[in-house]
Amino acid sequence: MSITEMDQQYVAGTYKRFPVEIVAGKGSLVYDTDGKEYIDMGSGIGVTSFGVADDDWQAAVTEQLLKVQHMSNLYYTEPCAKLAKLLCEKTGMKKVFFSNSGAEANECAIKVARKYAAEHHGPSCYTIVTLNNSFHGRTLATLAATGQDHFHELFQPLPAGFVSVPADDMEAFIDVAEKTPIAGVLIEIVQGEGGVIPLDPDYVKALAAYTKEKDIVLMVDEVQTGNGRTGKLYAYMNYGIEPDVVSTAKGLAGGLPMGATLLSEKVQNVLGYGDHGSTFGGNPVAAAGAISIIERIDDDLLAEVQEKSQMIFDTLTGAPGIKSVSGMGLMIGIETEKPAAEIVNTCIANGVLPLTAKTKVRLLPALNIPKDVLKKALEVIKAAAE
Ligand SMILES: *Cc1c(COP(=O)(O)O)cnc(C)c1O
Repeated sequence: MSITEMDQQYVAGTYKRFPVEIVAGKGSLVYDTDGKEYIDMGSGIGVTSFGVADDDWQAAVTEQLLKVQHMSNLYYTEPCAKLAKLLCEKTGMKKVFFSNSGAEANECAIKVARKYAAEHHGPSCYTIVTLNNSFHGRTLATLAATGQDHFHELFQPLPAGFVSVPADDMEAFIDVAEKTPIAGVLIEIVQGEGGVIPLDPDYVKALAAYTKEKDIVLMVDEVQTGNGRTGKLYAYMNYGIEPDVVSTAKGLAGGLPMGATLLSEKVQNVLGYGDHGSTFGGNPVAAAGAISIIERIDDDLLAEVQEKSQMIFDTLTGAPGIKSVSGMGLMIGIETEKPAAEIVNTCIANGVLPLTAKTKVRLLPALNIPKDVLKKALEVIKAAAE
């Protein structure tokens, strides 16, 4: 039985996989069962921040793995405490709750907003406002938060108290806010799964000012945009706002499952003993991996992310068959004349692995992808789009 046959027989059929079996890799190059080389332009959906099998990350992870792999949250462990300190120092946030995925990081954010609102504005203040075309995860609450109806259809009833409004439309938001007591607002600075669409900075600033004035908890979902992806440590830093809660996951631990919910001064003590928890959250091996990632996301690396971003925009904007290029940093959406799936299949045949988002081709390469490797991949993508 091949890997593909075994997978198709025994793994639940929730994923439409590409016909590629990856068995090895280093950095931004990965290899399939036939030894064919691919340039990885998706980094596991923005997860392997420094590529596959990165030396420093491997050393940090294996060092902890050989000491203690897990103790639960009944005891103190150094990597968890150190990572929380590092994240707070780099963001100005005050406390961190650790979980294992993006959806869970958002669940925690929603619980914080609900509890804060109940304590400060009474039990009828529980509504969470999100944006149309957003994506916040696959658990029932984060599905309810996801502003795309087709995700909801098969799973009714979803948890109540979620409303979505059009993005970049302050009037639509105020309209809801004047009729409904709102506990919190959850936004992505760049809508990822929705097609790599950055929000209008003026809208985000207006939303931040409004929520601050009305004591509504402003939550930014940085699951995909976080950890250097957009050319800043977190995407909200591009917009000059100060969110109350930031959730992140994907690239945080460089390839191990980890979610984090960062809490600002205002909400730092909302969660007390027993209010929330996670068996695996803050696992020392994942935390050791995350420390090695977050410590290396410095100004030099971020400047490099911005340079490579410019390279992508310069190479692809206006190229034949390419209608538009959107995004920020190394989070890029490409609108093409041909269907995105067709372009991805051509790219795979020619040794490049891009992603899609809605009708677009999406690129989320490793932050440290070498420029010559990136250039080679862009030529393949350009030719496929033509
Ligand atoms: C991927 C993603 C999630 C869900 O993360 P999981 O780790 O799959 O639960 C939530 N929000 C955003 C913005 C994402 O991109």
